[in-house]
Amino acid sequence: MRSLSDEVGPRLAGSPGDSLAVAWAVRTMNAAGLVDVHTEPVTVPVWQRVSESASLVAPPVALTVTALGGSVSTPKGGVRAEVVRFTSLDALKNGPDLSGKVAFVDMSIDRAEDGHGYGDGVPVRINGAIEAARKGAIAIVIRSIGTDHSRLPHTGVMRYQDGVTKIPAAALSTDDADLLTRTLARDPHALLQLDLVTRELPAAPSANVVGDVPGTGPGIVLLGAHLDSWDLGRGAVDDGAGVGIVLAAARGVLGLPSRKRTVRVVFFAAEENSGAGSKAYAKAHDLELDRHVAALESDHGAGAAVGIRVLTASDKADAARALFSGISNVPVFADDAHGGADVSPLRARGVPILDVLQDASAYFDVHHTSGDVPEVADPAAMAHASCTVFQVAARLALSELELGRIDEAKRKEAW
Ligand SMILES: [Zn+2]
Repeated sequence: MRSLSDEVGPRLAGSPGDSLAVAWAVRTMNAAGLVDVHTEPVTVPVWQRVSESASLVAPPVALTVTALGGSVSTPKGGVRAEVVRFTSLDALKNGPDLSGKVAFVDMSIDRAEDGHGYGDGVPVRINGAIEAARKGAIAIVIRSIGTDHSRLPHTGVMRYQDGVTKIPAAALSTDDADLLTRTLARDPHALLQLDLVTRELPAAPSANVVGDVPGTGPGIVLLGAHLDSWDLGRGAVDDGAGVGIVLAAARGVLGLPSRKRTVRVVFFAAEENSGAGSKAYAKAHDLELDRHVAALESDHGAGAAVGIRVLTASDKADAARALFSGISNVPVFADDAHGGADVSPLRARGVPILDVLQDASAYFDVHHTSGDVPEVADPAAMAHASCTVFQVAARLALSELELGRIDEAKRKEAW
């Protein structure tokens, strides 16, 4: 995690950092002793942040703001308009006409070990611009989807919809969202100035990076994490941590004799802004997906492990629970693993999913911000997560237990 964060740093899909990250991954997998280390081509969308600012107009006060990933620019001279505040996406959907105004969705999220606050808040970031534009708004600003009280704005992907005007979309830091809220309480006609300059460039080549710890049999246990990151920080906890955790686990398995199954490490491209890498892997490995015994994705920060979840064929759930019981003294839950974005195409095809749950209570303080640096991770907690992933992978690699295919009804993509 430190090496990737320090030596490569930010690596948004299609950026110069992305290419450096692919080279770093090949080098690092080889150095770790993985075999058949190679890249697999992925075409990724390219979006760039050029400049961003926001301020209250009278009296002039600068606000900390960041464009959401994929946002268009504001018109020349920026947007200067009154602001209408909402506390949820539903309130915006059911709210008044916003012609000529800026929508402001100020929704706080819960701090929780399982990170559920992020799941609650993310639709605001993803769909806010669509709903605001439907009401006639000329821009949208949201309270950062984060659990911090700080002046670090959180970016993250947003979407537009065909047939709905594309309006600029940005996130205020949580502290400055509070300031804007207090300002509007005092003066409902207060003006906000917003200036965003972004660029969308033609799709570019990137790659998934794949390396194996070979076993004697045909089965493959996939351990994945995403190599790309948002541009603001150094991609340490998201997802340098996952890269470090699965690589450490694979290195552990390399030291075990008589492995019956291959443990395959995949560093996926472009998780943050398209999922292009996950789709490319599923497509390129279509013919060997039936050899994938299970897939595990590590993309939930650097916290300690707090549980293991397994989603298998329903008649294999008890055996799976038994296989993984006792690891790191954490509970094992059968039949409710979610996977993440990168393994969702595999889940859709029935490949069993394993989750090592991590304590995410601090994760969303720095997630997608300039504060995503290695210093925020606790090495002991991250080692605990790594050891847990290692044990899960090792028990499956040394075993001949088949986990079957996920029941048809549970294959829907959770992400
Ligand atoms: Zn991530």
